[in-house]
Amino acid sequence: MKLADRYRTAQPSGMVKIFQAIEKMDGVLNLSIGEPDFDTEHDIIDAAAKAAKEGFTHYPPLQGFPDTRAAVCDYWKRHHNLDCAPEEVLMTVGGIQTPNLAMQAMLNPGDEVVLVEPCFSPYFIQATDSGGVPVSLTTREENGFAPTIEDLERVITPRTKILLLNSPCNPTGRVIPRKQLEEIAAVVAKHDLFVLSDEIYEALIYQGEHVSFATLPGMRERTLMMGGMSKSHCMTGWRVGYAIGPAELIRVMTMIATSRTYGLNTLAQKATSYALANHDAKLIERKKIFAERMDYVVKRLNNMKNVTCAPAQGAFYLFPNIKKTGFKSEEFVWKLLENARVATIPGSAFGTSGEGYLRIACTQSIEVLIQAMDKMEGFLKG
Ligand code: PLP
Repeated sequence: MKLADRYRTAQPSGMVKIFQAIEKMDGVLNLSIGEPDFDTEHDIIDAAAKAAKEGFTHYPPLQGFPDTRAAVCDYWKRHHNLDCAPEEVLMTVGGIQTPNLAMQAMLNPGDEVVLVEPCFSPYFIQATDSGGVPVSLTTREENGFAPTIEDLERVITPRTKILLLNSPCNPTGRVIPRKQLEEIAAVVAKHDLFVLSDEIYEALIYQGEHVSFATLPGMRERTLMMGGMSKSHCMTGWRVGYAIGPAELIRVMTMIATSRTYGLNTLAQKATSYALANHDAKLIERKKIFAERMDYVVKRLNNMKNVTCAPAQGAFYLFPNIKKTGFKSEEFVWKLLENARVATIPGSAFGTSGEGYLRIACTQSIEVLIQAMDKMEGFLKG
């Protein structure tokens, strides 16, 4: 068997290496994982089971069930004042599939995709796999990890086609304020760009507001909103993502997805229709729990030697600065794992501007977080 040249020397990402190491270790306090610790609520599971018994066991419509797409529209109108019609929605196999389909649909060889770093690392490979060139727009802690207009202008070239934004952000927890988004929108219009706006953490905002990029004046036709059920509704295993955008782009993405996945799992779509219509109160309950956890962890981190951490604005990640420890991110994470059995992700796994930081996911109970912080503090005291 001969593997393709491009995969023969391929290595797992920095994040996957940590996940693989944890699998072989006992007693790890796992703060590396970007999925809520809550199981899917039982009434959502019941909705899927009921649909199965009613005969929804066949291939789904390729773009998604009309009722599921209508539920997506209702949810985005209700929560974020985004107007859309079911024709402008595509159900995808997890939020992770959406940028991939969009880049496949939009990029010609050599077209550039601006990625605001540190960011969700699959974006890089998705851009290259689609024939594009990922271009890093690095951000800095002193600007709250939000892109400055000067830095954005600096990376734009005549080949720039897409700007990928993610607010609230994985891994920094940063939320880009409305005013800054408006300034970004002006640059987008000026350079005739298109925005892939990953808003998968929209339900988890602790400071400020979530502004859906497509609701800004003039941006509806220039934006593909990318959302999903994994983080908001604790449905990671169901693999439900969705896109809201211009009907022509949605049509081409649907055509591409046909030869890749042939639609999103029928029962997961039925569960989604139900969850989007019935679980608003749960979103608020869980957000409160995440907020309490994050407050606790931030306080603990800021009392540790050589560590500082800004409070979270959104999502469920903290991104402490560990530069004063003298360790590189990757070195720190492996030492913390081996010596204290606490798993985190090196900031550098999210791009070069993540060097000197760690990603801590507050996706564990407060009891686990207390133990993990005790161990991390002990590790830093040496
Ligand atoms: N986008 C961001 C920023 C993420 O952090 C994730 C998952 O961690 C995804 C998309 C994909 O999520 P899923 O494929 O589970 O819907």
